[in-house]
Amino acid sequence: MRELRTCPVTGVTVLLNDSWPDRARPAPTPSEPCWACSAPGPEIDRRDGLVVVPHPVPALGIEGDERVRVAAHGVRRDAVGAHELIFGAHGSADPRLLAFAAHRIAELRRDPRLRGFSIFRVDAPGRHPIWELLALPTDIAPSNPAPWRDVELENGARVVEANHGAVAIAAWAPRVPFETWVLPTRGGEEFPAGYEEVSALADRVLARMAERLGGPEIVVTVEFGTPWRLVLRPRVEVSLRTEGVGLPGHGVLPERAVGVLRG
Ligand SMILES: [Zn+2]
Repeated sequence: MRELRTCPVTGVTVLLNDSWPDRARPAPTPSEPCWACSAPGPEIDRRDGLVVVPHPVPALGIEGDERVRVAAHGVRRDAVGAHELIFGAHGSADPRLLAFAAHRIAELRRDPRLRGFSIFRVDAPGRHPIWELLALPTDIAPSNPAPWRDVELENGARVVEANHGAVAIAAWAPRVPFETWVLPTRGGEEFPAGYEEVSALADRVLARMAERLGGPEIVVTVEFGTPWRLVLRPRVEVSLRTEGVGLPGHGVLPERAVGVLRG
């Protein structure tokens, strides 16, 4: 089966062809000793065993000029912003880290230059769960997945699992094989409302994804919108390299992914 699908939420178009033999890449062995446990450097904030530290090699810095300069064919600006790491104990991804990240974003927002925020972590067996927070000088438009979520809940074909406050759904137009969105089903839509239910469900789906795909790294992203969501994206070796032409392509239709990921 060959299809071009456009995501109703993100607008991204992907090329899907289920005759391509994509394979999950096993995660590399975590480095010893664990950096977060041994040398995380000065703390920005600490609360109930959860800490925020600056990234040792930050992608953005707080110094710089916020002006946008117009060059011959485009614009450029200094990469003014912040790049921080948020983590707790080594063992597991503490759901309170999401609430702590929301608190940290509220602090950073006091600087009027910081307008867009991005949060992600790379999950792998034995690795310390560390959320990376990027604060950018540009806006990131929030998305509105609620209408899509409600149609998917009613239809059920791509629902991986649901609990009393959250649902995990295989993305309609997955950018990588097995991309799964976990989002609140009711109540507060603003990040991090409902984070306990969303985290609990995401952890269960993530554990099954890791086990059934042979332990790949899984990138977990917070995407903001109405409602916010966690997006799970395993690192999979795709057999057709179409990203060079701006068209994500692979061989796992979400209707097949859901059969692998269901409990
Ligand atoms: Zn550690």
